[in-house]
Amino acid sequence: MIGIAPSQPASLTDWSVSEFLTDSRALIAPDKALFFAITTPLGDGHDYVRQLFDKGVRNFVVSKMPDGFSSNDANFLIVSSPLDALQTYAAYHRSRFDIPVVAITGSRGKTTVKEWLYQTLRTDRVVARSPRSYNSQIGVPLSLLTISPQTQIAIIEAGISQPGEMERLERMIRPTVAVVTLVGSAHSEGFESFEEKKREKFKLLTNASSTVLPLSENAGEFSHSIDTNDGRTVMTFTIGSNTASVEIPFSSPVSFENVTTVIRTLGTLGLSASDIASRVADLKKVDTRLEVIEGVNDSLLIHDKFTADLSSLALALDFMSRRHTAGLKRTVVLSDFTQSNCGEDDVYAELCELLAARGIERFIGVGPEMMANKNRLPLAATVFESTDEMLSALGEDDFNSELILLKGAPEFDFQRVKELIEARQHETTLEINLDAVVDNFNLFRSKVRPTTGVVCMIKAGGYGAGSHELARTLQSQGAAYLAVAVHDEGADLRHAGITMPIMVMNPKVDNFKSLFHYRLEPEIYSIDFLRRLIREAERNGIHDYPVHIKIDSGMHRLGFTLESLPEVVETLRSQSFVVPRSIFSHLCCADEPANDEYTQSQFDYFDRCCDLLLSAFPERKILRHILNSSGICRFPERQYDMVRLGIGLYGIKTVGEELQAGLRPVSTLLTSIISLKTWEEGTTIGYNRRGTLTRRSVIATVPIGYADGLNRHLGYGNASFMVRDTLCPTVGSICMDACMLDVTDVPGVRVGDRVEIFGANRPVEILSDTLETIPYEILTSISQRVKRVYYRE
Ligand SMILES: *Cc1c(COP(=O)(O)O)cnc(C)c1O
Repeated sequence: MIGIAPSQPASLTDWSVSEFLTDSRALIAPDKALFFAITTPLGDGHDYVRQLFDKGVRNFVVSKMPDGFSSNDANFLIVSSPLDALQTYAAYHRSRFDIPVVAITGSRGKTTVKEWLYQTLRTDRVVARSPRSYNSQIGVPLSLLTISPQTQIAIIEAGISQPGEMERLERMIRPTVAVVTLVGSAHSEGFESFEEKKREKFKLLTNASSTVLPLSENAGEFSHSIDTNDGRTVMTFTIGSNTASVEIPFSSPVSFENVTTVIRTLGTLGLSASDIASRVADLKKVDTRLEVIEGVNDSLLIHDKFTADLSSLALALDFMSRRHTAGLKRTVVLSDFTQSNCGEDDVYAELCELLAARGIERFIGVGPEMMANKNRLPLAATVFESTDEMLSALGEDDFNSELILLKGAPEFDFQRVKELIEARQHETTLEINLDAVVDNFNLFRSKVRPTTGVVCMIKAGGYGAGSHELARTLQSQGAAYLAVAVHDEGADLRHAGITMPIMVMNPKVDNFKSLFHYRLEPEIYSIDFLRRLIREAERNGIHDYPVHIKIDSGMHRLGFTLESLPEVVETLRSQSFVVPRSIFSHLCCADEPANDEYTQSQFDYFDRCCDLLLSAFPERKILRHILNSSGICRFPERQYDMVRLGIGLYGIKTVGEELQAGLRPVSTLLTSIISLKTWEEGTTIGYNRRGTLTRRSVIATVPIGYADGLNRHLGYGNASFMVRDTLCPTVGSICMDACMLDVTDVPGVRVGDRVEIFGANRPVEILSDTLETIPYEILTSISQRVKRVYYRE
């Protein structure tokens, strides 16, 4: 029964809950929600009880009574660990169903194998599966709770990052079939060694009645061969005594391994070889990317490439609502769902509920199913039979100041819709992997004490990566501060909805009103500026405005010396408009062991300055910070109260392999071939005939030039870019908007092929070494006209 008046005490059994919530922001239906107040490194769930209560949630699992509540206010189930409670409940829920449960673990390919199993089984079974890559200690129980009485098979992903975790996952999932996909050779943070991680993963097999291991471990009763002919790939496989062949629509060895894993799992589930072959022939590429791109007419576009179904729509809507800012209308463009063909609940009713809960004001449906169910969609819905029809009816002027979520099943080719609504059509893009930013952030965080705050430097537009999305990501990861170079960048972030503390490193301020208005905390490096700030604060009626005192401990750029500090102290103590929030300094050679003595002298100098300032303000907690990325790795004992993370966040290693191993590249600069021509030996290419061909060559033109930030010294073959896994040297000089590459050695090269200038496959350091500069300069030189695409994997 739902709807008991909140003031009446009710036992939990009087409520029917169906929404299990661990993140307050994911709330959809307050009257059906049960919130587990879980404590993670990012925060304490108990802090969100009040907010949820105000929205109508009345059921909570907590470890203590939250402040300001009594047991009459709502249902509070007090347990020693809400996470354990969630896991115990999920294990119980799973145990009520006597159905096959397939669990998948491994370092790579988990999500692909899970989605492919879903694609092959959904045609004649009701399948429950983990949403996206929900595979953590929290994600797995939430996945298991999606199993319903109609479910005929469940497919659950299991991911681990520390010893001991798999046992807990195994106890909940109790897989009947345990699948281990490729186990990469790298060992990750949290494990002593690769062997340890592998042993941990294999604990998933403990109670399973059947197992599917990587081919290198044990193929069981399975053999296969692969034939490639005229670009077609045919896999022939034998399960037991049955053999079948299937053409597979993929060409990479990793895909082959994943396909064999799917085939063997289906075999384990009792399907015959020929049945499996017909199902596998229809596999569709799994793309889990969720991109954020600037759209036309001040719109912002979120393109979710993952399949279209309700559970992933709910997640995308959640992602969307976290990016919403005032003034943007919320729009969803959605294709027909790819659902199971049998026995599912009413997806349209649930869709309407979801759209309403997320405040969607405009809905565009695409596809015959949407058309057929038009009268069951929200009243304001516009519906088109096909993507073509939508594209001929709508133009870019039909989108204005909107936050647009695009989500289409692969056959609807929403890439074309994206191209219609994206602001910059330039084919050169800088892709920023937000998951890599998160991983890098966490890698550095693991190197400091849990209580040390991390200041994220996003000056220069996030080292070229663009600041809004990065700031949002870091805000949600629990960074202590953001630091920007200039005051405008900070104001910009406030407009984009960033609420966390922001410090401004270079506060040449003309507009103090706006500095105060946006709560931007300036760095103070001169007494004149401090005095002016105090005057302005007083004039604006501001008290206790936080500032950051910069010490010059040896960089000799900006900052106070020990001698000039007493005047600062005196000035600060004589008033109450401005207060010191932190004291800091910057190391000039933390990445150079040869200069460690100098670095030590910087620490000593900083200590003396801290003593002076802190003892003058015994009643205040003044934070101290000096370490940058290299410093965090090399001098962890000097972390004080905060550290300032810059280049490491963007995946660039500044010091030894061992110290920063595990950093992931964040930015990839991509362009594509717009023209291909074959020229005879001796032909010259480009301005001033600077490139002469020494053989008959295929020359590609790509739309990136020095106006995009591609340095002219990279011409004449000084640099090579990646096309289809082959390195292609530049030919002739780099032009303003284009350059030419020798692609003679690229098998099957075509117009439209992507070209990686630097990124995941080609570290940016190769370019900076060629140019005898540092990666910072390459990253910050990429011009603003290059389109930024942010994505989650
Ligand atoms: C840029 C900057 C940092 C970050 O340095 P990285 O080497 O990029 O980590 C830290 N502190 C200050 C004052 C900076 O200007």
